[in-house]
Amino acid sequence: MSRRKKIYEGAAKILYEGPEPGTLIQHFKDDGIALNTQKQEIIEGKGVINNRISEFVMTNLNAIGVPTHFIRRINMREQLIREVEVIPLEIKCRNVAAGSFCERLGLPEGQILPRSIVEFYFKTEQGNVTLVSEEHVTAFNWASTQEIDDIIALTLRVNDFLYGMFSAVGIRLVDFRVEYGRLYENDMARTVLADEISPDSCRLWDVLDNNNRLDKDRFRQDRGMIGEAYTEVARRLGIVKDHRLVAAQNEGA
Ligand code: UDP
Repeated sequence: MSRRKKIYEGAAKILYEGPEPGTLIQHFKDDGIALNTQKQEIIEGKGVINNRISEFVMTNLNAIGVPTHFIRRINMREQLIREVEVIPLEIKCRNVAAGSFCERLGLPEGQILPRSIVEFYFKTEQGNVTLVSEEHVTAFNWASTQEIDDIIALTLRVNDFLYGMFSAVGIRLVDFRVEYGRLYENDMARTVLADEISPDSCRLWDVLDNNNRLDKDRFRQDRGMIGEAYTEVARRLGIVKDHRLVAAQNEGA
């Protein structure tokens, strides 16, 4: 592994050069990072679980015609993906008010929104993530108007799919964050879903108990049992059978 060329290392993932041109290997780490890197911790087994959950979600999205960068999972911590030109925006989609949205609009946590809301954020070179309007996106050429339309349409499809998938296993999808990239085919650029979809990037509440958080807020808010909560999501989705199995797989990773 050490001889592979590292392309990029982020908070929770590493990208390595892939086996063929146009491919990369996405490696999921156990690191938990929040509050703009002020809070860091190793959450044992998190990378293994997120790799599996993201594989499950991306495979199903591909199956319903949502283009993604995902090709296939290679091992417990890694997946083969298509290399894309990253669109420099973070997209958040919200069904229920939570987190920074409550602070910004003065809404109580848990308020159901009148409709699903898609937001654009830009990450500055200093690492600050700021809410921006479509006007900013086109003025600074971060994405074209066609790409904005594609991103909104795809994000709402992803939201509908995820909402149904999680509802079926007793989980409320409060909100999530995604990223997109450009995949060049001949001279045409196609907008494809990139990054990951996992409890690190979604707010997931137990439908029977809004206070039972099955996502990264457990880490952000020092609630503990983070690995267990992520495993619970994977178990409910039928991806892993129980906690011991994950521990055993983790040892073999
Ligand atoms: N989120 C993420 N990465 C980030 C910040 C947020 O994946 O760096 C996700 C977060 O888990 C939640 C959604 O984006 O599912 C909306 O987050 P919000 O803006 O409310 O985040 P906060 O500012 O409260 O962390």
